[in-house]
Amino acid sequence: MRPRRSAALETFLETCAQNARMFRHNGLNCGQSRLNGSPKSPPTNTFSTPLRAQAARKLVDNYLHLHYIYRGNQVANSQDDRRLKEAELLCRKRGLRLTVQRRAVLQAVLQRTDHPTAEQIFDALHRRLPGLSLPTIYRVLDKLVSVGVVRHLYHTGMPVRFDSTMQRHHHYTCTQCGKVVDLHSPELNNLSLPEELPERFQIEQYSVQFFGLCGACRPKRKAR
Ligand SMILES: [Zn+2]
Ligand SMILES: [Zn+2]
Repeated sequence: MRPRRSAALETFLETCAQNARMFRHNGLNCGQSRLNGSPKSPPTNTFSTPLRAQAARKLVDNYLHLHYIYRGNQVANSQDDRRLKEAELLCRKRGLRLTVQRRAVLQAVLQRTDHPTAEQIFDALHRRLPGLSLPTIYRVLDKLVSVGVVRHLYHTGMPVRFDSTMQRHHHYTCTQCGKVVDLHSPELNNLSLPEELPERFQIEQYSVQFFGLCGACRPKRKAR
């Protein structure tokens, strides 16, 4: 569903935004954003008449969903457009239906180059998508990994990170702050690998990780 932005819809969004603030102020749980369709005309002041909680929630859901679509459209119009479309196409080809939550997680990972953890993705999204939980983020990320649009990045002793750059590349990792930076190097892509491996081991892929201190952390340690 891609509603066109019109003056009527702008008014609707603004009214819903006001309502959402009032509901939250009164402790009403907004619930999870759902696809409820869009109204044909903007509502009048909904607080001038008695409003059932269910209708109120639906209104808030509508607002959150439309708001999400507009935010999504803004992203799609940016330079990330091509990558997002390619990733969405790959998901569809491999049978992964992109729900609102899955698309939001996919977008969040694609937009970032800092190799975020699941917690960081959760922090970035949970206000925009109430009802989204950390376990859901983990499940969605695992699905995105399984269809090959995102990959895991393991560093011993550090939480698992997620990387949306699927071409072979390597990493610098700061052992102080945990920052991970991409390194693209044709030389490292063509290392001569050992021919004899123990225990009938077979190398399928490799990636090189350099550990050290980033520029921000080096002076800190020296000052001690
Ligand atoms: Zn650092
Ligand atoms: Zn990377």
